Amino acid sequence: MSECIFCRIVSGEIPATEVGRTEDAVAFRDLNPQAPVHVLIIPTRHAATAADLLAQDGGAARLAAVFALATRVADELGLADRGYRLVANTGAEGGQTVHHLHVHLLGGRQLTWPPG
Ligand code: AMP
Repeated sequence: MSECIFCRIVSGEIPATEVGRTEDAVAFRDLNPQAPVHVLIIPTRHAATAADLLAQDGGAARLAAVFALATRVADELGLADRGYRLVANTGAEGGQTVHHLHVHLLGGRQLTWPPG
């Protein structure tokens, strides 16, 4: 059994509220939402960061699949015209706490910049 919590969501060992899935990516609601819409989009194959995914054979296509699912889910949840944010916290100073690449899809309210 994988020790990676997001790998266990991919395999269905841990429940999540899925809002989209393809062969290469899964989208599910964040447990601790920071906006009215807060979804995480992850590659189905484990990689800690985008750089690690890109280093894998076929990784560029799987990274593209993550962003393709993110934009599809944003559209399906009514955010395409309003706007939204995609962000991937990376490494210690980036604030990454789960070490399986994930893109946060945030929207449904006016977002501010810069982030904390
Ligand atoms: P980050 O700080 O960028 O690594 O974000 C990790 C995110 O994963 C946080 O927003 C958490 O709320 C979220 N999270 C952690 N465990 C789960 C889970 N089991 N299901 C859904 N979201 C989770």
